Amino acid sequence: MDYLFDDWDILKDRLRDKYLFIFLDFDGTLAPIARTPDEAVLPNGIKRMLKELSKKTSCRIAIISGRSLSDLKRKFGGLKGIVYSGNHGLEIEGPKIKFSPLVSSGYLMAIKTIKSILLKKTRAVKGALLEDKKLSLSLHYRLVDEKQVNMVKTIFHETVIRYLAGGRVRVKEGKKVLEIRPPSEWDKGKVVLWLLSREKFAKYGRDVLPIYAGDDLTDEDAFKVLKRIGITVFVGKPSHRPSGAQYYVKDTGEVAKLLRNILGI
Ligand SMILES: [Mg+2]
Repeated sequence: MDYLFDDWDILKDRLRDKYLFIFLDFDGTLAPIARTPDEAVLPNGIKRMLKELSKKTSCRIAIISGRSLSDLKRKFGGLKGIVYSGNHGLEIEGPKIKFSPLVSSGYLMAIKTIKSILLKKTRAVKGALLEDKKLSLSLHYRLVDEKQVNMVKTIFHETVIRYLAGGRVRVKEGKKVLEIRPPSEWDKGKVVLWLLSREKFAKYGRDVLPIYAGDDLTDEDAFKVLKRIGITVFVGKPSHRPSGAQYYVKDTGEVAKLLRNILGI
């Protein structure tokens, strides 16, 4: 991975006269990571720049997050003109876009049952937080006493095992969170390709250049599909973990710097 700003002069020429499709993760990319999901805040400077970029006819912005769509939109204060993809792409909304890939009723029933069981079983566990994102369900244990974490994990796995075995749900483990998702293979990479293919009719005769910035493991799916056709940016120090991105910037402050540079082209 190369430090993005070392190559900025070359990149600047690549970006010029292109239709830019800028994909951005939210937590840890635009907003610094907070103690709880509720406490994460979008910095005002970034919000202003996203607004300016979204008004350009040569630019499209999409936010790609695991948060629910309504929660994500709230974090942006209803900022219009950009595409929001929530729930890992299960809910997408933006100018002339409203999309939800098929989620079976069997899955929705399973998730409802799992939620009520988990609510009952974790009620007595201090710090366990069940987040109902409608199309997915997250059990956060960041605030659970360390001695009780294994118990929480056991409760979770015992509850979901028969739905997992039946192929009715999929389970993903994140940073201090266990998550239930639909069994379909839909990830950030597929969301990006889907949005790109939609956009090819709206580019005003220019070549489309996708740019993607993210800090999560789930962003790697997007890095992979964009490797040859776009500019991929890992947010974090390269020593933090290996990434398939071509470039890195150190933190959310440098993501702001990148957006400022793009505005200045
Ligand atoms: Mg993130």
